Amino acid sequence: VRRVGIIGGGQLGQMLGFAGATLGVECLFQDPAAEPPARMAGEVLSAPFDCRETLSLLAGRCEVVTYEFENVPVAALEALSASVPIRPPPEALRRAQDRLEEKKLFEALGIPVVPWRTVDSADDLREAAGALGLPLVLKTRRLGYDGKGQAIIREERDIEAAWQRLGGRASIAEQCVSFDRELSVIGARGLEGEVAVYPLTENVHEQGILRVSKAPAESAPHARAARKYLEDLLGALDYVGVLALEMFALGDNLLANEFAPRVHNSGHWTIEGSRTSQFENHLRAILGMPLGDTACVGHAGMINLIGTMPRDREALLAAGFYLHDYGKRERPGRKLGHATVVSPTADARDRSLEKGLKILAK
Ligand code: AMP
Repeated sequence: VRRVGIIGGGQLGQMLGFAGATLGVECLFQDPAAEPPARMAGEVLSAPFDCRETLSLLAGRCEVVTYEFENVPVAALEALSASVPIRPPPEALRRAQDRLEEKKLFEALGIPVVPWRTVDSADDLREAAGALGLPLVLKTRRLGYDGKGQAIIREERDIEAAWQRLGGRASIAEQCVSFDRELSVIGARGLEGEVAVYPLTENVHEQGILRVSKAPAESAPHARAARKYLEDLLGALDYVGVLALEMFALGDNLLANEFAPRVHNSGHWTIEGSRTSQFENHLRAILGMPLGDTACVGHAGMINLIGTMPRDREALLAAGFYLHDYGKRERPGRKLGHATVVSPTADARDRSLEKGLKILAK
């Protein structure tokens, strides 16, 4: 069997492991958690992400190493790259870990972004407010996710408190945009530079956390621009694997928000809704296999199960949903699973999503 090492054993690792099983690919994980979701999909080496000893053990047993967790220290990955191929390249992770580096890359590639400023002090923040106008979103450069490490500044007098609340950490400030909708584009790039792009996904966030995704999000001008931005990004990073780019849509324009150098929550619908899931395509890409067809098999909708699992799972199944339970303990704000529905039309899909959300609210 071919063996892939995966740093991180969360739900993304779990779903990569499940995809590997049908391909004849075994996944071996490294994660410090007591009961990581990936335990259901393969062997887990229990160690911190930067434990060099365990990382070399992983490298020794696998033909390629990938990561599903974004806060892996890049230095540890770079050290490992002498003994095993690391895909996607650590440089992609380095860029994605720092919002400033990420913005600079977007700008260097001519990918439009929301007007922004670097903020290293409360004074910088006051200046940013003057230059960009209010409201502003303040985001720490590092270690932010699911709306954590973020503050919205609506008035001048909020500035000091917001700066303190984020711990006075190196940050960026962005104009708060009134977008029409949020879109993401996900694609895989193979070893020879070939690219497979999924149809656009529309995403709805609640309190900074993804709640609902729908695909395909039809819009020809957006799809063209998104594909170009994604291809430019993949090429510039000499990328191998799956990458997700999140964007704000305003009229016909797209503004890049951030990218993830990994499989992405907004692509979970591809398990049932596409000919080839993002998880399978990630494995195919990093193993040098031909990429799979990314076409939709219908109109897909995905609901994240956050904080609590549904009381009435059977009602969800009866409503046509596929349920994914990551096997995690319930905790407010935690992603515990997701439910996907695939319908013949967008209207039918939207009706099913409404029904699913009602069942979950019970
Ligand atoms: P992020 O961690 O940057 O992906 O932000 C999480 C969510 O917060 C996004 O998906 C948006 O819903 C919202 N958000 C982030 N930045 C902005 C912005 N500049 N203007 C408006 N909403 C934003």
